[in-house]
Amino acid sequence: MKYDYLVVGAGLYGAVFAHEAKAAGKNVLVIDKRGHIAGNVYTEKMEDINVHRYGAHIFHTNNKRVWEYVNRFAEFNRFTNSPVANYKGELYSLPFNMYTFNKMWGVVTPQEAADRIEQQKREAGITEPKNLEEQAISLVGRDIYEKLIKGYTEKQWGRPCDQLPSFIIRRLPVRLTFDNNYFNALYQGIPMGGYTAMVANMLEGIEVKLGVDYLENKAELDAMADKVIYTGAIDAYFGYALGALEYRSVRFETEVLDIPNFQGNAAVNYTDAETPWTRIIEHKWFEFGTQPKTVISREYSSEWKPGDEPYYPVNDEKNAALYAKYRELADKEEKVIFGGRLGEYKYYDMDAVIDSALCMCERELG
Ligand code: UDP
Repeated sequence: MKYDYLVVGAGLYGAVFAHEAKAAGKNVLVIDKRGHIAGNVYTEKMEDINVHRYGAHIFHTNNKRVWEYVNRFAEFNRFTNSPVANYKGELYSLPFNMYTFNKMWGVVTPQEAADRIEQQKREAGITEPKNLEEQAISLVGRDIYEKLIKGYTEKQWGRPCDQLPSFIIRRLPVRLTFDNNYFNALYQGIPMGGYTAMVANMLEGIEVKLGVDYLENKAELDAMADKVIYTGAIDAYFGYALGALEYRSVRFETEVLDIPNFQGNAAVNYTDAETPWTRIIEHKWFEFGTQPKTVISREYSSEWKPGDEPYYPVNDEKNAALYAKYRELADKEEKVIFGGRLGEYKYYDMDAVIDSALCMCERELG
């Protein structure tokens, strides 16, 4: 056998493992079925602008170890995510904070805002939120739910809000202060020069083969290494034997515009039900771009079907139960470690993926 480890997938999980394994003196081969590294954090230049080809990625974390780790491979800028919500032409600040409440209700003080929310929550009669709709109303009241959450969420997940788990919305902060920073994280930024360069630095000196489909050449590839780190979809690994796990997919319509500024912000969410896209990303603002042109991507959310890119795991009860069964099969594969968003069927942020990879490295590499 030529390699200690075969790493399937050159995204963040695979790149972190490969880097650590090499540092521990192991022989590593990384493969990816795509023609490029960096998985879904891949960025590519268009009009001298780093375009997030598989959706916007804003690095944010409270985990100092992870922050210091990524800073070894890239310098991060001071980008702060402050998306704007566009509801039928009315603009609101996100996440939900005093600017949002002032625009929605004309309230001026935090007490007035809190009273409004409490009143709307009381009117809805919710004591223990059982689903996303009830969770949202009890956090921010019915007006904000109707204008800024319902349409967006139902487009994003393709399901009614009263059939979605409440944890999805708990990702978003609610603040009674004038603070448009979307994340509560202590550390935040975008790697200057793009994510692809950051991942390339992680993979420096490591053999990488692109355009190689593991599942199509499994026996031959398995024979090349003692162990496999598999970061692809867990159900695909088992040939969908127990059925397919559900994902939400996203289609991006990317356009170059011959103007310097289209929307004045990196992200504008379209929160009504009628606009077919969920949001528009204007990539240059992630890096305070001064280019003469601009590149925008409209995002359309759709149910995943074979052949599409899987993006968001649908973490409802049905899929969680199916994943648990695949997990049992995975635990029996002695030579293979499953990791990352697809390998663990988890709605992972980037920092959590890196943390999980580093923890696995400690167990595996000592
Ligand atoms: N959300 C919403 N309105 C918005 C933005 C987000 O209702 O304008 C809800 C929606 O349910 C979404 C969840 O909050 O799925 C999490 O949003 P986030 O921006 O964290 O999702 P991601 O960036 O991972 O796509």
